[in-house]
Amino acid sequence: MTPENLPSIIRHWIGGELVDAADGRTFDVCDPVSNTAYAQAARGSAADVERAVAAASAAFPEWAGLSNRARANTLYRIADAVEARHDKLGAFESYDTGLPISQARGQARRAAENFRYFADVIVALGEEAFRQGEEQFSYAVRRPVGVAGLITPWNTPFMLESWKLAPALASGCTLVLKPAEWTPLSASLWPEIFAEAGVPAGVVNIVHGIGEEAGQALVDHPDVPLISFTGSTDTGRHIIRSSAQHLKTTSMELGGKSPAVVFADADVEAALDSVVFGVFSLNGERCTAGSRVLVERPLYEEFTRRLAERAANVRVGLPADPATEVGALVHPEHYARVLNYVEIGKKEARLVAGGTRPDHLPDGNYLQPTVFADVERDARIFQEEIFGPVVAVAPFDDEAEAIELANATQFGLAAYIWTSNLKRGHRIAHAVDSGMIWINSHNVRDLRTPFGGVKASGVGREGGAHSIDFYTESKIVHVAL
Ligand code: NAD
Repeated sequence: MTPENLPSIIRHWIGGELVDAADGRTFDVCDPVSNTAYAQAARGSAADVERAVAAASAAFPEWAGLSNRARANTLYRIADAVEARHDKLGAFESYDTGLPISQARGQARRAAENFRYFADVIVALGEEAFRQGEEQFSYAVRRPVGVAGLITPWNTPFMLESWKLAPALASGCTLVLKPAEWTPLSASLWPEIFAEAGVPAGVVNIVHGIGEEAGQALVDHPDVPLISFTGSTDTGRHIIRSSAQHLKTTSMELGGKSPAVVFADADVEAALDSVVFGVFSLNGERCTAGSRVLVERPLYEEFTRRLAERAANVRVGLPADPATEVGALVHPEHYARVLNYVEIGKKEARLVAGGTRPDHLPDGNYLQPTVFADVERDARIFQEEIFGPVVAVAPFDDEAEAIELANATQFGLAAYIWTSNLKRGHRIAHAVDSGMIWINSHNVRDLRTPFGGVKASGVGREGGAHSIDFYTESKIVHVAL
């Protein structure tokens, strides 16, 4: 089903105006059901990034000079404008990314909450003061870093854009956003949202385009002192290397291969629900997906069988169908990559569910949720991020082996632990190398908490005051008393 009011052209938004690329170039925007182009988007180049950075630089003094309260009030209006587009955003996001509509619909609320939350944070945040006896007094002030460069991926694109836009704006930065080229549709809603909320021209600028062109130009621009990046580990490495030239501050939210560790004493129903949700919701295109399930040996056969049954019953279908649980993977290139992993998995492990396109969906990027059992730790499907509805299951014998297996990849984003022994839960949580751990709980976010990974999953933390720390510089003033 095609959403109403689908644009046929998606333009940059620079200095408060919708504009074409300076050289007039565009690229195809396709939907993942027909894999045909439904729109053209402006294909940004260094010239467009130059214009956008100039607009953001010009808008910076006034925006940075507003009181925190004044910026927060604008953020509340942005949140209202996002929520007012709840249905439209859900329909756009589902159409462009292939996410099931039932899951795409939640994205507006989450995005709106990001703006409200960071509005509250910036108003509540104090600054530090220090006193050395009666001789010296020192106080720290925060200053927004300047023009922020925001680069985002194609999975839940609008929500992830809001996760950067909200703290950057709350902190007083102006910015240039480069949305992912496979999914620019929902970002086409930002200009009307920001205009309706009264965001001054030039505070937010959006340049669409290919990563290696528009994204790279943003990373290379000398007047952009900060890059907030969410995407793959390889691109993250590349951006850090490029950023070194201008010694930019960077935040890297990268890939994952997160373990769900299930002990035999766990609440098996709850663990199964969580594992199914963790790896098959959002089409498995989720950075924190629990894509390796480690199960204690006495529960292993039963858990694997029941997980396979649950996977076989997941409803794969058209993204726009409210009954669909797994939709179409985002792009034929990504689909081919995921299918390639499935073929590798068939050689490496025991396929117990899925592994093929569902019979009732002859076209589009569809895959039946796929479960591999008896996966060895050196298998590629154990080690590499697949980013689709594919899960690797392996047994462990004791706590030490559970920890060893959980830590046996280059990644360290999230981990999930299922046990009724809470002391053990805490022990494992402390021993697992990952930035975020959930015990007997799945992926419930608290916006106040640090978000980010260790090892190849990222550098730095966003979330709560961590985000404000990132988008501001602290300056200390010492005064003799
Ligand atoms: P990607 O790295 O291919 O692209 C991400 C963004 O970077 C896109 O906007 C792209 O255009 C841009 N880009 C590409 N090359 C660039 C370059 N040379 N310079 C500047 N920008 C460039 O990632 P993707 O395939 O869009 O996203 C999926 C990945 O993102 C997965 O690995 C996933 O785990 C990760 N991810 C991580 C988190 C997290 O919070 N840790 C959240 C969501 C997604």
